[in-house]
Amino acid sequence: MRNSTLITFVFFLFASHVSSQAVVPDPCRADFSGTLGFLSSDWMEGREAGSKGSFMAADFILSQMLQMGLEPGAGTQASKQFFQNFGIIRYKSVKSEFALTDQSLKALSRRYFIPDVDFVIESGPSGFQFEAPVVFAGYGINAPREGYNDYGNINVNGCIVLVLDGFPGENDTSSIGWKKFGNDAMNEFHRLESKQRNAMENGALAMIVVSREGGKNMTEGKEVNKSIAQSAFVKAEEAGYEDYNYALPDDPYLIPVCRPRREAVAALLKDTGLDLKEAEKRISERLVPESLEIKGKKVYLAAEINAEPVLVRNVIGHIRGEDTTRSIVIGAHYDHLGMRYNHIYNGSDDNASGVSGMLAIAANWKRSGIRPPYNMIFAAWTAEEKGMLGSSRFMRDHPSGKQKILLNLNFDMISRSAPSDADAKVISIGFLRGTDHLKTMAVKYNGDLKKPFNLDIWETSGHGGSDYVPFAMEKIPVMSFFSGFHDDYHSPRDVYAKSDLVKMEYILILANKIILGFLSTNKF
Ligand SMILES: [Zn+2]
Repeated sequence: MRNSTLITFVFFLFASHVSSQAVVPDPCRADFSGTLGFLSSDWMEGREAGSKGSFMAADFILSQMLQMGLEPGAGTQASKQFFQNFGIIRYKSVKSEFALTDQSLKALSRRYFIPDVDFVIESGPSGFQFEAPVVFAGYGINAPREGYNDYGNINVNGCIVLVLDGFPGENDTSSIGWKKFGNDAMNEFHRLESKQRNAMENGALAMIVVSREGGKNMTEGKEVNKSIAQSAFVKAEEAGYEDYNYALPDDPYLIPVCRPRREAVAALLKDTGLDLKEAEKRISERLVPESLEIKGKKVYLAAEINAEPVLVRNVIGHIRGEDTTRSIVIGAHYDHLGMRYNHIYNGSDDNASGVSGMLAIAANWKRSGIRPPYNMIFAAWTAEEKGMLGSSRFMRDHPSGKQKILLNLNFDMISRSAPSDADAKVISIGFLRGTDHLKTMAVKYNGDLKKPFNLDIWETSGHGGSDYVPFAMEKIPVMSFFSGFHDDYHSPRDVYAKSDLVKMEYILILANKIILGFLSTNKF
C-alpha cells in the first residue's frame, strides 16, 4: 500500500515534461485494421523470412513509415536507412550417426543406431565427427551457490558426457535436490544451453542427454521434435513445424547434443554397472555427484550438415527525441511461417497484429508533432519464427555505449483470445524480473481504462519465446504484450477475419498510455 502511494506521488512530481496525454491521440481501429488486413493477405504468402512475401511485407511496412514521416532507424550515422539487411544460416542435418564400440568384444566393430528412430542429434550449422570415451556427469550442472558440481571430481576433457535432463529431485518434491533446485530461479540450471556450456568449459566434445525415468521429456527418437512442438501448449498443424534450423553467422558455438531413446542408452550402459535410475535417486536424496567414467565403451557421433545463407531484413524507423543518446524500442515481428503443402500461413494474429499495432502507435506519435524526450525506435523484426534472429541481430549490432535503450515494448499476437477467455478480457504482459515500477505503471493505466483488462502479469529473466528476449538478456526493461493462445496458433487458420479489432484497439490504447507514462515520468 505504501509503495504504491509513493510511486503515485513520484508520478505526479514528474508528470510535467511530456504532459501530452491530451495531445498524442490513442490508436483506433482505422489506424491498424487496413495494415493488419493487408499484411495478413494471401499476397504476402505467409511472410516467411527471406521469401518473396517477406520482402513485399518489408516494402509495405517501409511505405507506411515513409508516409507517416518517420526517419530511418537503421544503418550507420553517415548513411541512415530503414532496412537492416543481414544474412542468416538455414541448415539441415543430412546425415547423422551415433554408434557404439564395445571394447570388451573381440571384434571392435561399431554398432550403429538408426537416426530418427534410436536417436536425434541437435547441433549448430557446422558438421562434426568424433569417437571418444563417455563420462557420466550426473545432471551436467555446476551450481556453486548450492555447493553442487557434477564436474567437480571428474575429467571430461576430450570426452563425450552423458547427462540426465532436468535437475536433481525434479520428480520428488520432498527430496533435498528439490529443496535446493526446485524453485523457479534455480531452473536456469536445467536449461540445455547451460548444460552445454558447462560441458564445453570442461572440455567435452558432445553431450548425450538422457530423459529421466518418468520425466516429462521422455525421448523416443523421432518423437523428440513432436514433443517439443506439443509442449508449446499448442495444437500445431502436422506440417507446421520446421525441417530446417536457423542461426546467425556469429552465434557462439555450442557442442552437439545427442538424444538417444532408452534402448540405445541401455546398450551403452550394459555391463558398466551404472544404473541411471538408481543414480538419479541417490543424487536427489543426497545431492552428492555420482559422476564416473564409463569404462570399456566408446561412442562415435557424426553429422553432415547442409547449410545455406538467406538474406533477410528488419525494417526500422524512428522519431528523434530531445535526448538522442537514449531510446525506447517499440517492436513486433512481421515474419511468419510462409507456405507449406500449398497452404498459406497468413499469420494474422502472429504477428501482423503486432506490426500493425506498432505502426498505429508510430503514426499517432508522428501526427501529434510532439518531440519525445528520448528517441522512439519503431522496429518490424524479421525471422522471429526462426529463433528471434531479427531482434537478436539488432541488439548485437547496437552501439550500446552510444545509444542506451531504456525500454523495449514488444507486441506479439495481440488480436485474439484464448478459448478460456471467452469475454476477451485477458491481456498478458511480460516484464523483466525486478522492474516492479513498470508493473505498477501498467496496473495503474489499466485501471484508468473504461473497461480494464484482467492483467496476466509474468516475468522473464532473459529467456522466452518472443523478440523481448535479446533485450531482457541485456537486462533492458521489457514489456511484452500478448492477448492469448488460441487454437489457430501456427496454423493456416490464423486469418484476418478472426481478429478481435475491439480488443486489439484497447490493448493499443493501454500500451500507448504506458508509453506516455514512461516517457513523461522517467528521469534517468
Ligand atoms: Zn509465431
